[in-house]
Amino acid sequence: MPMPCLSRLVAFSLASLATAGVALADPPAPPMPEKPKQVVIISFDSARDISQWKRSRALAQRTGAHFTYFLSCVFLLSPETRREYTAPGKTAGKSNIGFAASKQEVTERLEQISLAAHEGHDIASHGCGHFDGKDWSKADWLTEFVSFEHILENAYAINGIVPEPQGWRFRPTRGCRISRALSVDQQGTL
Ligand SMILES: [Zn+2]
Repeated sequence: MPMPCLSRLVAFSLASLATAGVALADPPAPPMPEKPKQVVIISFDSARDISQWKRSRALAQRTGAHFTYFLSCVFLLSPETRREYTAPGKTAGKSNIGFAASKQEVTERLEQISLAAHEGHDIASHGCGHFDGKDWSKADWLTEFVSFEHILENAYAINGIVPEPQGWRFRPTRGCRISRALSVDQQGTL
């Protein structure tokens, strides 16, 4: 199961504690059993299909839902730029889940990422090539993390997509926009 954005959960927990504190400091109030707030966490593994980006963003706008898009960075690389990614122990340009089909598809995905982040959703890391990392060293994992960050941050430049939106390179480093919340599939792969 994918992990949620940690800082958001912490913020939620602190808010709950603050509410509980107020209730305890007010003895005359009848003891009201506090109904725990139900939180449903939905994440999008790999954040690949453009149609699903659009559909989920529309759903969020209708319902006020908040999503975490666990992006795989290989979908920001086209057949022409796939060699920008090298997985631990692999040669450049290899991925277990493929790459974006075209530069146009990367362009559309970057647009969706921008829109989603602007609308308050979280863009989180699902690593890149979706390889089985159970035998990876710490250095291997760090390499994968850095690949994700590098490719997301430089996606416009790497793919020659212009213009790069102002502030793009700074957005991913803010708060949990690029949280390293990784998910581990049932098979133990990233
Ligand atoms: Zn996955």
